[in-house]
Amino acid sequence: MNNATLVAVPAGGGTAVVGSVREDLARYLASGGDSALRHSPEAALAAIRAAELRGRGGAGFPVAAKIEAVRAADGPRVLVANGEEGEPASVKDRYLMRIRPHLVLEGMLLAGHLAGADRAVLYVSDAPSARSVRRALAERAAAIFDHGPKRQAPTEVEAFDHRQAPAERVAGVEIFDAEPGFVSGEETALVRAIDGGPAKPTAKPPRPFEQGVAGRPTLVLNVESLARMALLTRFRRSGLLVTLSGSGAPPVLTEVPHGVRLAELAARFGYDACRGFLAGGFSGGLLPPSAGGTPLTHEAMRAIGSTLGCGALVAIGHDDCPVAAAADVLAFFDRANAGQCGSCVKGTSAMAGVAEALRAGTAVAEQVDRLEQWAGRLRGRGACGTLDAACLTADSLLRHFPDEIRHHLAESCARCVRLPVGADTRFRVHPPEPEEG
Ligand code: SF4
Repeated sequence: MNNATLVAVPAGGGTAVVGSVREDLARYLASGGDSALRHSPEAALAAIRAAELRGRGGAGFPVAAKIEAVRAADGPRVLVANGEEGEPASVKDRYLMRIRPHLVLEGMLLAGHLAGADRAVLYVSDAPSARSVRRALAERAAAIFDHGPKRQAPTEVEAFDHRQAPAERVAGVEIFDAEPGFVSGEETALVRAIDGGPAKPTAKPPRPFEQGVAGRPTLVLNVESLARMALLTRFRRSGLLVTLSGSGAPPVLTEVPHGVRLAELAARFGYDACRGFLAGGFSGGLLPPSAGGTPLTHEAMRAIGSTLGCGALVAIGHDDCPVAAAADVLAFFDRANAGQCGSCVKGTSAMAGVAEALRAGTAVAEQVDRLEQWAGRLRGRGACGTLDAACLTADSLLRHFPDEIRHHLAESCARCVRLPVGADTRFRVHPPEPEEG
């Protein structure tokens, strides 16, 4: 399969954040960059609230409410930009950091200012992304050092002092080299890692906005959420970055308006003839072809029992099989879970075992019954969302693909026999390589 991700620039521009050339500071400022930093905090927050911006990391929590919660807590406060894109089918965050680092930095400056943070951390494991943001920080430091007041260039951390007007300071950002992994970017795992512990989730409460990095109130925002915040004061509306991949066509990263229908998007990029989708990366379960009329919004996806998540969609093509897709995703969760919660460790392993038996044509009806019971009973019993995502994968397979289940119980599936095994092999998408500007 051709795994090079195409970047599709939407017609009409507008809030388009996509492009193929890495944007340096001069280019960024020439196109109106950093203008969000000239607004009052009240105006910027009002724009975020009016746009009903929701987090783009997966949970979809309202961004303005998160900012207000941290702002209301006693300081000192911390901002963490979450650039750890652990969803194998998503590339948008790495793309933004590699190609539009100044947009991410502007969002960080703005968010830090709104929350009253005096420490800012970018949490990222992707080395090219970290390099690109470090280079962007150096460009900002050089701009101030060369043209600003004659003083020593500030250190990155000093420069994030929230008492300075945001437009006048360098985007001082600590870059934390994160451990890659599916649970590493979960917000309590990230707090734990920055504080020197393992990148594994902890029980909630407390949530990071109450007690996060070094015990301080911490605002954790995904890098796309930050980029969107920076653009909102300019455009007043917000799009959605979508990674679309799967069998049949090359992966594509594009920006769509909220509410575009799944089938319309799939048809635009050659994914229309398929047997279903994995939604929300691996977190939203399987969708049947009949879900094609669903608008891509948090509410509509939730209404059909799925999630928009990080906006990644994987098409299950006609040569593919929903049972094999579910088996690969459950096996991935079985490997990727943090090994902390008994229900998750045993539950994902047991569900993965039944799905694998179905794929191999060796499962019996009693196993399918047990799979159904686990998918219902184990929900909400893990410290993070991994176990729930595994339950949703199993439950959606059983609900939407009963004919395929019957077929796999009766005989071995010719498609499954031909398919390679492993979610990493079949569904992992690689970010586009930036051209130098
Ligand atoms: S639910 Fe699973 S992945 Fe999440 S913390 Fe518990 S064991 Fe780890």
